[in-house]
Amino acid sequence: MNFSRQITDWYRQNKRELPWRQTNNPYFIWLSEIILQQTRVAQGMDYYLKFIDHYPTVSDLANADEQDILNDWQGLGYYSRARNLHAAAKFIQSEYNGVFPSDYNSILNLKGVGTYTASAIASFAFNLPHAVVDGNVYRVLSRIFDISLPIDSNEGQKTFNQIADELLSKENPSLHNQAIMEFGALQCTPSTPNCSDCTFHLECLALKNGTLSERPIKKGKTKIRNRYFHYLIFNNGNETILQKRINKDIWQHLYEFPLLEVDQEYKIEEIKKLILEKFQINPIRYAIQKKHILSHQHIYCTYWEFDAFPKKKDESWIIIKDYTFSNYPIPRAIDRYLEEKNNSKQQQLQL
Ligand code: SF4
Repeated sequence: MNFSRQITDWYRQNKRELPWRQTNNPYFIWLSEIILQQTRVAQGMDYYLKFIDHYPTVSDLANADEQDILNDWQGLGYYSRARNLHAAAKFIQSEYNGVFPSDYNSILNLKGVGTYTASAIASFAFNLPHAVVDGNVYRVLSRIFDISLPIDSNEGQKTFNQIADELLSKENPSLHNQAIMEFGALQCTPSTPNCSDCTFHLECLALKNGTLSERPIKKGKTKIRNRYFHYLIFNNGNETILQKRINKDIWQHLYEFPLLEVDQEYKIEEIKKLILEKFQINPIRYAIQKKHILSHQHIYCTYWEFDAFPKKKDESWIIIKDYTFSNYPIPRAIDRYLEEKNNSKQQQLQL
């Protein structure tokens, strides 16, 4: 088998034309890589185009207001990515005079950049010989070489990195890396790999050994934390209240309605009592939404509506008029509530 030749030949014939592949500008490649973490290409595309339009250079991103960046990021989730982009851009601006670093270690040193992203930027932008190992690469290698080591174990990661390094084309690491990732995304997909028409059909050991559906192996499942959010929507005429999430937690620096978080699922009557105790005001109706699934957390949201402001207000509250949310980056959970309300798709229960 000539791995690199086979996979790059496949790539030339089958690759998708994506805007971040038409450039070797490291800043654009970095943006695309961060946007595409945990995000599908189809969804990430608009965000990528918006970011290179609104912030065409590292300096533009560094000098931008965080709230504008978070607003532009809205809907993508995992907002720490946007905050890290901003922090790293400021770092590049102050340390490297706005010039994106061109060596692997300096790229790896940027906030929010791990070994995978550093290898991707170093190879795609500077053609440096660093092999990428992401979910697609784990899947492809574990199948072709029928590797039973768990990809989330130290030994597994070491082995996969070693194999990826050995296979990497030293002449054209950029093309090789893009090819193996695209092959994982289009050909050797998680549940429906196209084995009958595959360049590795004769060599693929998992196909030969009948272990394909078990590759790659993952050791432990992530523990999921359930959280119960009760949003309090105080409406006073055309005014309502928002607050900023300032703690180190999900959705940091985004805006939301005042929140009452409880540690377990309580009955509606119990929550109503809690609200009355804390805010001395009774809600008039409520709506329950489907859970929000994040990578390590499931968030159960209930939205309580009031027809007045509570007497005692928190200093951190901001009063907004006419539901003008567009100036404030908000989490998807609030966005969904507003969407459903506007489209009358919400099942509201009167109290
Ligand atoms: S033969 Fe199937 S499992 Fe093996 S590399 Fe090709 S698509 Fe993947």
